[in-house]
Amino acid sequence: METFVTIERALAIAQQTPIQHSTEWIQLSQAHNRILAEDLTSKVDDPPFDNSAMDGWAVRSSDLNRLEVGMTAAGTPPTEIGKGEAIRIMTGAPVPKGADAIVKIEDGIDGQAHTNFIRRRGENIRQGESPLSSGQLLTPAAISLAATMGHDTIPVRSQPRIAVVSTGDELVPPGAELQNGQIYESNSYGLCALLEKIGCTPLLHEVVEDNMESLRHTLDSLDCDAILTSGGVSMGEFDYVRKLMEEEGDLHFWKVAMRPGGPPLFGTWKGTPLFGLPGNPVSSHLVFLMIAAPWIAPETPLAREVTVRMKDSVKGAPGKVCLRRIHITTEDGALVATTHTHQGSGNIHSMVAHNGVTLLPPDSEANTGDTISALWYL
Ligand code: AMP
Ligand code: MG
Repeated sequence: METFVTIERALAIAQQTPIQHSTEWIQLSQAHNRILAEDLTSKVDDPPFDNSAMDGWAVRSSDLNRLEVGMTAAGTPPTEIGKGEAIRIMTGAPVPKGADAIVKIEDGIDGQAHTNFIRRRGENIRQGESPLSSGQLLTPAAISLAATMGHDTIPVRSQPRIAVVSTGDELVPPGAELQNGQIYESNSYGLCALLEKIGCTPLLHEVVEDNMESLRHTLDSLDCDAILTSGGVSMGEFDYVRKLMEEEGDLHFWKVAMRPGGPPLFGTWKGTPLFGLPGNPVSSHLVFLMIAAPWIAPETPLAREVTVRMKDSVKGAPGKVCLRRIHITTEDGALVATTHTHQGSGNIHSMVAHNGVTLLPPDSEANTGDTISALWYL
């Protein structure tokens, strides 16, 4: 077990216990944001035949005077031209035998002939090539490419089923009447949305009370690929996630040198990976963004590292990377950042009012005008 590790080390430790995937075959129309499980080989050349890139005439480039002898459109079978002949051709139509160039319609039939207005068979992809690799995120463009290559069903990784368990005697679901000392449970809602964003199936569990037996019983009852807990991981008397993992689980790290978000833990509970997020709403969100998400789904980044110029000064943290919430915009083509609202780790509004965080190295601060690294949420 390692304690008080860097963010990078925490991720490296978690990556030693990857979530297991199986492969499933799905319809291409259902594939958006899934992860390809095998290299995908093209069944055809792209394009499958020489075709016109322009509306115009298919001609022989050596002919100076041309006589229009017919018309061909996309979807019609190939034709042929002889010396001195031209055929009206539409974009995507097969280039007639005998033609080696296209004159575009705007230039008139005796205009300049261009050989590069012909899209050559296989110039994009050859049959048997694999432009999509295992592990690739299926973006809209990647899905179009798979279709171009002739695939109607494709192999993708199964979506990890991740249990979300909030702990805390003070938590009640939104909608209920709050009694004195109670707050609405909010972390699990954000965490389920984050999990959906990175292509997982969240399994929302009801809030677990702060005692060893309830927590043990809940963890034992889960049927999932990984467990995310929130709360109960710091030094408090009732921080039972940490206690249970220390005594009965297998703990790999506890505490990360970041603020907010100091006390997360990672390990396995009876063979299932368990990520223990802090209870403070900003902390749980940021630890998920910085460590849990890149561990679960490195192909689906939730933030991008950028360089920003500060328009306000921000304080750092002794010994820890400091994640101050900032709002990033562009000014004269450069990224600039401002910061406002109360920055407490309990204030989830600060995550909504800003669109990124600073990555201030330990024991440093940023003054107005300084250029620093930051994370910009996608
Ligand atoms: P803990 O880590 O359990 O000590 O919780 C730290 C703080 O976060 C406390 O103020 C809790 O009330 C709050 N908290 C813990 N879990 C949640 C949750 N699921 N939703 C909202 N706030 C929470
Ligand atoms: Mg608690």
